[in-house]
Formats: sequence, C-alpha cells, structure tokens
Amino acid sequence: MFRSIAVIEDLPDKLIDRLSDIAEDIHLLVQLDNLPALYDLRQAILPRLAEKGYVTVSSRIRQQKLCEQLVLFYGRELLDLIDSDPTESRYSWLEQSTRTARRAIHPLRQLLLIRFLYGSFREFLDRTDGTIAPFGNAPWPCLNKAAEHYKELVITQCDITRCSDTGRPVGTFVCSCGFSYSRRGPDKSEADKYYRGRIKTFGPIWSDKLKQYMQDGMSYRSAAERLGVDTNTVIKYANGKLPERSGPLKQKHVKKATAAPSSINIRKSPRIRVDWEKRDLELSWLVEQVCKAILAESDAKPVRNTITLLGKRIGKLSWLEKYQHKLPVTMSILTSYVESVSQFQIRRVRWAAERLSGEWPIKRWKLEKLAGLRPDYSQEVLDEINRCIGQSRLLQPFTSPEETSSWQH
Ligand SMILES: [Zn+2]
Repeated sequence: MFRSIAVIEDLPDKLIDRLSDIAEDIHLLVQLDNLPALYDLRQAILPRLAEKGYVTVSSRIRQQKLCEQLVLFYGRELLDLIDSDPTESRYSWLEQSTRTARRAIHPLRQLLLIRFLYGSFREFLDRTDGTIAPFGNAPWPCLNKAAEHYKELVITQCDITRCSDTGRPVGTFVCSCGFSYSRRGPDKSEADKYYRGRIKTFGPIWSDKLKQYMQDGMSYRSAAERLGVDTNTVIKYANGKLPERSGPLKQKHVKKATAAPSSINIRKSPRIRVDWEKRDLELSWLVEQVCKAILAESDAKPVRNTITLLGKRIGKLSWLEKYQHKLPVTMSILTSYVESVSQFQIRRVRWAAERLSGEWPIKRWKLEKLAGLRPDYSQEVLDEINRCIGQSRLLQPFTSPEETSSWQH
C-alpha cells in the first residue's frame, strides 16, 4: 500500500513541519501502554465530526466536504508523499474511516484524520478518554476459578472486536495462565469488569484441576462449581481427552463418553439425544490426524485432499455432507487442510522434485510431466517449480525418476 520513498531534503518548510507533527503523533501512539481501540474510530470521532459540521441532520457524513477540507489542510504534496490522497479512489480510506468499521485502516491514516479533526493525537486522547476504551483501562481480572490469582487484576491484554449482530464491542481478555474469556461491552460500571461472557480457552491450570478432580472421584457437579463452569462443560471436557488411536471412531468410545457421571443422573431421560458438540470435538481430532496422514504420505503419489476423500477415509462422508452446520470445529479444521488446485499442484511439484533429485539440474519439462501439470498453471506453481529447480543441487537422490504420472489438472 505504501511506497518506500527516500527522505527528500529540499522539501518546503511547511511540509517538513507537517511531517514532524505527524511523527510526534506516531511517537505518542507507540509509547502508549494501553493502545486505544482505533479500529472502531467512527464511534470516537463522531461527536467531533458533528461539531465541525461534517454530519448532516440525518446523521450522514458530508464526505465530500470532509475530503476537500482534509486535502486543503495537509496539501496534496504531503498526502501524495505518504500515499494517502483520499481523492485517488472512489471508496477512499477517509470514507472507510468514517463509516461503520468493516476493515482496518492503516494507523498512519487514522492519525492524519485525527490530527485534522482535533489538532493533535494528544488532544484527541484527552477529549475522547472513555469513549474509546469500552472496557476501561488495564489491568483486568483473570476469571479462571481454578487459578490462584482468580479475580486478581493480572490481565493486561484486551482485544476489541465488534459483535456482528448488535454492533457492540466485544472484549477478549487473555491471561498468562492460558485462560481467556470475552464479554460484550461497553462496561457500564467497575463491577462489569468481573462479568465473564464466553470462555474462549481454559488453559493448562484449569485442565489440570479438572483432571485432578476427576481422578479424585469428585462429582461433575462439584467440579463444575469449583471450576466456575456449568456441569455440561465439565462433562464435555472430562471426556474430551481421547485415547491415542489411529483407526476410525468406534461406537464403544462414543457410548463411553456419554456415560453418566457418578452423582448426577443424566441417564434419567429415555430419549437418546445426539450430542453434536461432543461428536464435533471427537471428529475434529480424527479429521486432523487423517488430514496430516494424507499430506505426509510422501512415498505414494500424492492425492488431493478434499472433503470427499477425507469423509471416505474416516467413513463419515455423510456427516460431513449433511451436518456441516453441526460440526463447526471439524469443518474449520477440515477447511484449513483441504487443498485448492494450486496447492495440490505445488505439493505434486515438490513430490516430483524429490523423485528427480538424483538428476542435476532438474529439467523443467521432466518436473512438469512427472507432476502432471498442464501448461496453464498459476504463478505460485511456477514459483515453486523455479524454487525446486534452483534447490535441486542441494537435494539428495531419493528414488528412481522412472515413475510416470496420470494427473492432468
Ligand atoms: Zn489467569
């Protein structure tokens, strides 16, 4: 996005002054302990935009006026120098900065807008304190009931995103003990700091405590109370650790995993309910193992990793086709392993290069033929071919290059 330009010494004084103002803002920004959440800048600057006459009675931003004034304030030369002339594109960074946040704006550009509106970044911070920190300032409490530092103010990191349904800020608090939780904001009082929304990760301290409670024969309900979660969560994670195995899931395991605990009677209900969350968890583990195995089969001719192939290998193709919506964890793992045509071609190129590594230098046509490539492959595949040819002198002979190929993609 930004061009790298050498510092030009004979710039007009006015321009140099402006640049050093911006440098001052950047300096202040990087020195802050608690970075303000500039991602959602619109909320913070809206009152100021209104004060300055850039908001219509129907709450729309006067984009054209704002753009003209900002260009006038900095001058085209400077904006061009830092590649931030908002008149250069129709949906410019300036328009995006003043609309509901959909994508991140480069902080330098945000600083440009802030200085234009407030005079300096310092002034902006003084004026907007509170509105840009929907969860207050660090530190925040760790709400991991299994940790000794429970409720102590030990968390210094809070990532703020936006709830896609309500548009409200969501803070995610990550503790060094591995526990993290999120909460929808903004906080209305200090007490809100101790309100925990969703738990994102439990971490080793929490898991070890759970394991210990289970070994001690503690009931799920008591364990849940001590760990600060509901009983179902304890049941889920107490059984979540699957024994090492390489074959497909056996019905025995599923049954065992849903067996009732000692003190609470979840077998009361005669209706057999599929626990999709548990199934998802178990399946995701299996899917990951099988995907890794498919990609690691380096001796055999590579096969493309697709949902169909994987579903067949684990014998659960119908689940993956029909119940994708009930298997979010599995599907996200699967998506990260499934290959595009180019990715698969790249893997074939590497495989073919290994087989040709006895030859030096590797001939391009041989590599293409063995990898089964048609001439219209993408630039990234070409890059990989060039890399393999370039590296061929470093590789040791692997196997005979006589194998032929039947792929055509
Ligand atoms: Zn903690």
